[in-house]
Amino acid sequence: IYILGIESSCDDTAAAVMHNGRILSNIIANQKIHEEYGGVVPELASRAHQQNIVPVVHQALKKAGITKEQLNAIAFTKGPGLMGSLLVGTSFAKSLAYGLDIPLIDVNHMQGHILAHYIDEDGFEKPPFPFLAMTISGGHTQIVRCDSYFDMTVIGETIDDAVGEAFDKSGKILGLGYPAGPEIDKRAKLGNPKAFKFTKPKVDELNFSFSGLKTAILYFIQNETKNNPNFVEENLNDICASIQYTIISILIDKLKLASKETGIKHIAIGGGVSANSGIRQALKDGEKKFGWTTYVPKFEFTTDNAAMIAIVGHLKYLEQEFADQSVAASARLKI
Ligand code: ATP
Ligand code: FE
Repeated sequence: IYILGIESSCDDTAAAVMHNGRILSNIIANQKIHEEYGGVVPELASRAHQQNIVPVVHQALKKAGITKEQLNAIAFTKGPGLMGSLLVGTSFAKSLAYGLDIPLIDVNHMQGHILAHYIDEDGFEKPPFPFLAMTISGGHTQIVRCDSYFDMTVIGETIDDAVGEAFDKSGKILGLGYPAGPEIDKRAKLGNPKAFKFTKPKVDELNFSFSGLKTAILYFIQNETKNNPNFVEENLNDICASIQYTIISILIDKLKLASKETGIKHIAIGGGVSANSGIRQALKDGEKKFGWTTYVPKFEFTTDNAAMIAIVGHLKYLEQEFADQSVAASARLKI
């Protein structure tokens, strides 16, 4: 079975071809344009998707070595995401499926971040059900109980900012480029995580909050630069390490609680922030400390990509769960 996956929920235009659960091609066109604005500008994102989508799909088919006539179905991101961005992928997928007279499959982007673990990859184990998935990305921070491919329940989530935003907004305060997550990660490796202490928010149950941390960091920096205008430059690696350490311990605390409450010890992470080397290490440590078995996605399947959309398409194809031509993009689609 050949599935074409299309992803256009935010600022990356992506297409992937999957054959029986294995990825043949995984193409991503990043939109550099947003860097100068320090965040994604929805109108510009939508326009760039329109320019990128045809060449990206062409490239995905070419790299996979197949023609579009060989495709069995087309899977696309229905939501959640930016409406203008989603519309481009949705309309394109609908027209192509209609033109080729093959099934259309709608995919929830957040399920994609989780089910990316089911892509056939040498050296990567698939988590057995039930497992807990922590999705940590630019727009979401959730703990999801997964009982089967499509039986997923959100048991905790952020009440304000997402964890990716916590990285990006902290980075902005420090004068780093956008998105700041990868650079904070790089610098954190060179710094002392205990150099500065930021208080962790107190949030009920399995929910998260990151907006207070951002404010705490802002005040801390303002205060320190009053005494020493070069404080940030002189301590950048230590600051990054301390911020990352705080964020990771917030995440791990909640995972510990979720694991205790559900009795589930199989733990997977997904979403852009699961690329972070600190969270990857913390999860590994959890295996010894808490008896967890942990699952970390292959690096290229962490931030937005179409391979994760294709795998959901593949799994839905097996269940013959198809969408019809009336399907519409949904910016606030829930799991
Ligand atoms: P969502 O999936 O919730 O709709 P999104 O698709 O915009 O949001 P992703 O592409 O999954 O988000 O993730 C992007 C986020 O991941 C950004 O906030 C970025 O800073 C963060 N990120 C990427 N790599 C790293 C890293 N190594 N360390 C920390 N954060 C990272
Ligand atoms: Fe995403």
